[in-house]
Amino acid sequence: MRGTCSVPIIFFGDGAASRTEVHEGMNQADVFDAPIVIRSRKQRLLTAKMLSSTSKSILRNVRSVLTAGSDTREALVAMVADFGRREVAPGAAARDDGAPFPHDLWMRMAALGFHGLAVPPEYGGVGADMPTVCAVARAFGRAGRDFGLGLSWLSSMYVASVPLIELGTDEQIARTVPRLVAGQAIGSQAITEPHAGSDVGAIRTRAVEDADGWVLSGSKIFITNAPIADVFLVLAVTDPEAGRRGHTLFLVERDTPGLEVGAPMRKMGNHSSLTAEVFLDNVRLGPDALLGTRGRGFYDFLGSASSERLVLTALTLGVLEACVETAVAYAREREQFGRPIADFQAMRVKIADMRIAISAASALIATAAERVAAGEDALLDIGAAKVFVSEAAVVQTLEAMQILGGYGYMREYELERLFRDLKLMTVGGGTNEIHRDMIARMVLAERTGVA
Ligand SMILES: Cc1cc2nc3c(=O)[nH]c(=O)nc-3n(C[C@H](O)[C@H](O)[C@H](O)COP(=O)(O)OP(=O)(O)OC[C@H]3O[C@@H](n4cnc5c(N)ncnc54)[C@H](O)[C@@H]3O)c2cc1C
Repeated sequence: MRGTCSVPIIFFGDGAASRTEVHEGMNQADVFDAPIVIRSRKQRLLTAKMLSSTSKSILRNVRSVLTAGSDTREALVAMVADFGRREVAPGAAARDDGAPFPHDLWMRMAALGFHGLAVPPEYGGVGADMPTVCAVARAFGRAGRDFGLGLSWLSSMYVASVPLIELGTDEQIARTVPRLVAGQAIGSQAITEPHAGSDVGAIRTRAVEDADGWVLSGSKIFITNAPIADVFLVLAVTDPEAGRRGHTLFLVERDTPGLEVGAPMRKMGNHSSLTAEVFLDNVRLGPDALLGTRGRGFYDFLGSASSERLVLTALTLGVLEACVETAVAYAREREQFGRPIADFQAMRVKIADMRIAISAASALIATAAERVAAGEDALLDIGAAKVFVSEAAVVQTLEAMQILGGYGYMREYELERLFRDLKLMTVGGGTNEIHRDMIARMVLAERTGVA
């Protein structure tokens, strides 16, 4: 997120064979002098160390952009859009086709402040408020056209860095957050289990206390970032008799003996976001691994999940806008029966409905984000935005494909890929059925704020 900041530009390679691979013994100058390739987790860690001072100077500049005046959000959004267009979009189709996780792009994002966007300045981040993060996520989705990479980025920040700052001890924060902000570490939150999805209260992963700390055993499934993550927040049962009040969060480092990550799961879409099972086989943790308060884990998880849900909803809107842009441009240019298809009423109705959906989605997200920023109860608004936007994304992306006719079914125009990516959002972040149920409960309990 450089924009007007006068800091060095870092050129990372795109994986081409001619570029220099990051290796031991390189220094910061090497990173600036020649485009480099970061293919592995180890190379990412090396690069993060080399760039740590530069990242700090960029973050200082981004913070000053954010506090400089009322148009700063627009400036930041313009920078992110530019980054998305130049850096993210070009490799998105290849990542969908199985190209490896883009560690180099992750580091470039780190160097530009992405991973510290929602992290307060006192912990080395940018400290953007919720409306700004939503605006940035939307711009990233629209210009970058890679929902999966946005999912990995925003998840790491909202399920690891943000809850760590809210719940962690000084020592836990110092040990993890700077690494996450610098891109040296990637975060992941392991809640779901094979038999416990919507019903989080039914998890079985057990944490047993002994004289040395804790022993965790169980398994988790569908965990975003697990194959590349360095830091896991794991929800486990500490007090089986206490139900949801007997769940506790733990901070687990990847190299802890007994923690194993399964192979990346094969998914319908979002191939640039890696998902896997996490197995915990008598994982021994010290007493300092407990995160937050014993017995509060279920509720702490709900809190962080709701912020993550909102920023992913904003990302969804951005990707939907990208689909609509493609469809509108096509409708203007494609001629049948001697006229642009945009002249036909059936096409115009679709275009109008897309635009209406975007306006409504934008308003719902803005309302929820403003409430979060004001410190108000935003649960209903976030749920409403999530349900509406995820469903509008599915419906309108299919309509966009329809406007392109046969070409919409082809990979070249990317709509089928974006549709496959966006479909996740009716399930991820809590299914829409669960959110509707929650909204109905709040309405019936008159917790709506609506007269
Ligand atoms: C790509 C991907 C990434 C994910 N990332 C993570 C992650 O990083 N960490 C993590 O912990 N989890 C993650 N998840 C898990 C995700 O949160 C769950 O898939 C989701 O909560 C639903 O759980 P489930 O799949 O077990 O479905 P189930 O809960 O079994 O639901 C099946 C169906 O039953 C419906 N249903 C269930 N209960 C009710 C009810 N009370 N009323 C009405 N309908 C109901 C659901 O809406 C759904 O349609 C991820 C999932 C995916 C697909």
